[in-house]
Amino acid sequence: HAPGSGGACCRMERTFIAIKPDGVQRGLISEIVSRFERKGYKLVAIKLVVPSKQFAEKHYHDLKERPFFNGLCDFLSSGPVLAMVWEGEGVIKYGRKLIGATDPSKSEPGTIRGDLAVVVGRNIIHGSDGPETAKDEIALWFQPKELVSYTSNEEKWIYGVN
Ligand code: UDP
Ligand code: MG
Repeated sequence: HAPGSGGACCRMERTFIAIKPDGVQRGLISEIVSRFERKGYKLVAIKLVVPSKQFAEKHYHDLKERPFFNGLCDFLSSGPVLAMVWEGEGVIKYGRKLIGATDPSKSEPGTIRGDLAVVVGRNIIHGSDGPETAKDEIALWFQPKELVSYTSNEEKWIYGVN
């Protein structure tokens, strides 16, 4: 079960997912949220924010040597971003699968980027790429008190445990 929910399961993880300004402007919030929701993952934090350039640079610090870094940070800070934390078994890795390859021209149909985006510079969504980045990104975007621990009524049906 989820951290804080009192259950016995130990495989619960949390990942940071953000809909970038292009996804928000294109009206894709509900489309994207519903894909995570339908899968059976649990939303534990959500907020709409316009990050500063400096904040965007922190978020993408691993990429600071890349030629697209400046444009990427300008873009992320150009408008509202929907920041979220999703929880579930295997959500870090499978969330990346739902999102699809970085370059939408190579993302499989059926994935978020494959279905909803065309070019790498406007690929509409971010997802943590591993347990360490998930931890760091959640801590960067959210205060601990913004993460809501609760038991979803669906958990026993999604995981098959009581
Ligand atoms: N990006 C870009 N050009 C590139 C590679 C990446 O504009 O050639 C952008 C793209 O928006 C991507 C982000 O930089 O989502 C972060 O890159 P990363 O390799 O971490 O891809 P992701 O983890 O988002 O799939
Ligand atoms: Mg990445």
